[in-house]
Formats: sequence, C-alpha cells, structure tokens
Amino acid sequence: MEKFKVIFKGKVFVAPAKELFYLEIRVFLEPKESAFNTTDYESNGSAKILNMVRQRIVMSSRYESNWVWRFISGDGSLWYKVIQAIYGSKFDLHVTDQPSIWCSILREVKSLKDSGFDFSSHCKKRIGDGSCTSFWYDIWLADAPLCVQFPRLFALELDKEIVVANKMGASSVSASFRRDVRDGAERQQWDDLSSIMNSVVLSSSKDRWTCDLSGDGEFKVKVIRNFIDDLFLPSSDVATRWVKFIPIKVNVFSWRARRDRLPTRVNLSRRGVLLDSHLCPLCNAAMEDVQHVFFRCDVARVVLRKICRWWDLDWQEICSFSDWDAWFLSFRLSSRLKSILEGVFYVAWWRIWRLRNQLVFDASPPNRSTIFDDIVSWSFLWCSSRCNRVFSWEYWLKNPYLISL
Ligand SMILES: [Zn+2]
Repeated sequence: MEKFKVIFKGKVFVAPAKELFYLEIRVFLEPKESAFNTTDYESNGSAKILNMVRQRIVMSSRYESNWVWRFISGDGSLWYKVIQAIYGSKFDLHVTDQPSIWCSILREVKSLKDSGFDFSSHCKKRIGDGSCTSFWYDIWLADAPLCVQFPRLFALELDKEIVVANKMGASSVSASFRRDVRDGAERQQWDDLSSIMNSVVLSSSKDRWTCDLSGDGEFKVKVIRNFIDDLFLPSSDVATRWVKFIPIKVNVFSWRARRDRLPTRVNLSRRGVLLDSHLCPLCNAAMEDVQHVFFRCDVARVVLRKICRWWDLDWQEICSFSDWDAWFLSFRLSSRLKSILEGVFYVAWWRIWRLRNQLVFDASPPNRSTIFDDIVSWSFLWCSSRCNRVFSWEYWLKNPYLISL
C-alpha cells in the first residue's frame, strides 16, 4: 500500500495509508515522492484512499477487533499514541457518538457486544512482573477486572491507577485504602479478594496481553473471524460436495455459499455491520440472502433456466440449495457427466456472485448480457482440461449431455 508523509505535532512521519486512515487527525499528506502541498490534500488521492479503506471496513467488521486489540494491548505505534491522546487511555471510557473512524469502530464492537460477543472480555493480561498491569482495571485475575468483581473495595481505593507490582510490593493490599475494611459485604469481598490473591506469584518476565480465543493466547484475526462466524452465522450439516473438474477456488466458493458463509447483505447485517440497504444489488427487489442471490433473483432464474435448456433438462422452480439437491438427484446421467453438470452449476453461482460484486464495488456497471456465455466458456475451459477425454467446443455447446466419458 502506498506510503504518505504526515506532519503531526511538528514532526514528519512516513506511514502507510491504512495507518493514516485511523489517525483521526487533520493531517497534511502527499504521495511520498512529491513535495508537500497542503491544498492538494482535500481534492486528490487521499480521499480516494480513505474511501477505499472505508469500504473495506464496512465489508469486514470482523477485522475491527484487530484495531481494538491494538489499542487494548498498547502496541506502541503512532496510531495508538494518537488515539490515546485524543480519547484517553481507558478503552471502555472512549466516547462512541462522534463522527470519527475510531468511534465507528467502537460502535461496531458495541453492536457485537449487544449481540452476545464482547471482544474486550477476551483480552487478558498474563501477569509477569506486574509493572504494566493495572490492579483494578485490567482483566488479569478471573474473567473481569477487579474493580467490577469487588466494587466496594474499589470504592475504598485511593490510588485507582495502581499497578499490580506496587500493590503486591506494599505491606498489604489494603495499604492504599482510605479506611479499614468494615464488616458485612465489604468484609466478604475482602475475604474473597484475599483468597484469590494468595495464588498470585510475580515473575521476572514482562506482563503481556493475551487473547483467550486462541489456544496459544496470541491475537489472530482469523480466530476472531471464525469465532464470530460460528456465533452469528447459521450452521449446516450438509455433506461437503467437491467437483474435480473445476478449480479449487470455485469449489470453495460453492462450499461457502451452501453454508451461507458469503457476505450477503443479510449476513453482514446479522454481524452488526450498518448498511444503507439490505436489498439485492442485482434486482433491488428482495432482501439479499444466499437463497435469493442464487435461486430466487431474476438474474439467477434466467441463468439456471438457460443451463437447463442447454443440457436438455426440465426446468423446475428451485428456491434453495436443498431444493436444488433434490432436483439434482431426481434425473439420470452417468456419474462423471453428472459431476461435470454439477461443476457447471458451481461455475454459474460463482459467476453470479462475481457479477454481484462488480455491481457493488466497480465504478462502472458490469455487462450482464455475457454472463451465460461466460459460464459456458469457463466451464468448457476448466472441464475439458481436467478430463482425460477430449471433447470439442462445438460438442460442448450443442450436446454436452451426450459427451461420452
Ligand atoms: Zn435479486
């Protein structure tokens, strides 16, 4: 990604465009090679890049956890320092109602939390020497900060920012309380805190942040993504189907489509992504879910009907993948030929989804009229090169169901 020079607080930095997007400050930037010219900033490349990155964010709310992780774990980057300077060091106290990128990320994270996935609760401190861990605010003992687990004791604390090392180095945990612990609920909380503090042993290593969603404690976007998908996307026990006559990418695509794992607008909204419209971009007539895109949409119906005519099959109204499975089982063809036909359908769904993406993301509208021709020619190219037998393009066009394999 292109790098830009940035002037921030009188210093010049070179940062990738992605970083700049998250800086949240009015920066003056220019492509690296050219001279600074602040007036160009408003009208030229930066707006384009910001838009591009904005689109990527909308499409992948799952990656927002990456930025939240970077903030919580204090990765020391320029971006982290800027966000901290603007919003403060306490992540959960950051405002979310301002029209800024960081606020919109936090809003998405909050929406995920309201839907049942609280990302920050999975970010924990693994204690080493205790010098970088807030005794009360960080999650380092059990699953919540001590200020939440022991609110009455926290109310007694005079030094609310105290780190674990200082607390453990003091004569008693209560040394910095404003008065002695009284009987009743306070005493109960004191006893509970004392008992879990008995297990704490500091070491010489540094404190470090871990994410408890992955086995090794490392933060990985992929793990978070899978976790969120498992939580919010419908699961399916459909057996995996694989067609060896078409490329892996088309098979994988079809596998994702059957499991409803594509970022359709309905699925994006299920994950908490805010969208202007939930309608199918191909027809603007119905909600965009996977069954609509591949079976119920007019575009898909025309394509599927043409495939049936081409293969001399009776067309039926098919509304879902399970309908398609039943229909596909109902007629007789040799198993290899049937596998090729299945591949043709996979190629068709893949092409329809590609058309949909071109419509959503490309600047100029795609050509819809070539979609069926593309399916015929691509499936010929792939199937003929993956079969041991040779068959001609003319034969493929006229009598694919008579191909002898
Ligand atoms: Zn549609």
